[in-house]
Amino acid sequence: MIKYEGSIWRPPSEARSLILQATVGCSHNACTFCVSYKDRKYRIRGASGIKEDLQRLPKNYKAGVRRVFLADGNALSMPTDELLNVLRILNQELPGLERVGVYGYAKDVREKGIGDLKDLHQAGLGIVYLGLETGDDELLRWSRKGVTTKENISASLKIRKAGIPLSLTIILGLGGIEHSERHARATADALNAIDPEYVGALTLMIAKGTPLHELVQQGKFRPMNAMEILIELRTLINGLQLTNCIFRTNHASNYLPLGGTLSKDKQAILDILDEVIRSGDKTSLRPEYYRGL
Ligand code: SF4
Repeated sequence: MIKYEGSIWRPPSEARSLILQATVGCSHNACTFCVSYKDRKYRIRGASGIKEDLQRLPKNYKAGVRRVFLADGNALSMPTDELLNVLRILNQELPGLERVGVYGYAKDVREKGIGDLKDLHQAGLGIVYLGLETGDDELLRWSRKGVTTKENISASLKIRKAGIPLSLTIILGLGGIEHSERHARATADALNAIDPEYVGALTLMIAKGTPLHELVQQGKFRPMNAMEILIELRTLINGLQLTNCIFRTNHASNYLPLGGTLSKDKQAILDILDEVIRSGDKTSLRPEYYRGL
């Protein structure tokens, strides 16, 4: 079977996909909240690495693969030609392949022309997961994301213009209670400007080994509690005006798994949140010890 380098991270919706490391690590690797790739140095494995992996898989297994997720942190960082080679190999080796997904970082998208993205889509790139995290520039700076909201929006719109379905990730609790409302409102504004097909909300986890963990240890940042997070989530959802977006809080870090198509389910989601917030009943919430990255 495939030998992976380090822990593998993937979006919840890629749980049943074949995961292949087209790149190792993250080319940015500086966000203060992120522990995912701290143990490895960024490098491109590219088409030769993927070919090697596929050679290890039995033919009958390969025949059943419908979806592939290309890890690690931002496989879209590969030069377009190399990524096209990877997609070509996947199409050759996996006869039932329907979709290939990658994580993208706004700076990777900036490096690519609209024609590059269209070529990638044509070759099978079927979804890009982009970490927006917040629509608030101050919080982006504070968390060392390395991009501005304007850059996140422009990268997202470019992906959409190329016809590639886009899934944006946002992080509840990123600004702590002090900036909670500003974070929720600015994030809703950014999402409204992009109008993506999918939004996935995570809840901030304080992982050991991150600069954010140090701030918590020093008493300089207090993570928000479950009810504060739900109030923030309510403000965010209330501010969203999206045409046809599937919104989910199904990541293991969240206190309350919710989901729906916002154009028709927004009020039902708000009603659930209102009820839990009003009652203060924590029995329907995921206990702290079950939350994970
Ligand atoms: S959050 Fe994304 S861009 Fe930031 S370090 Fe982690 S993988 Fe890299």
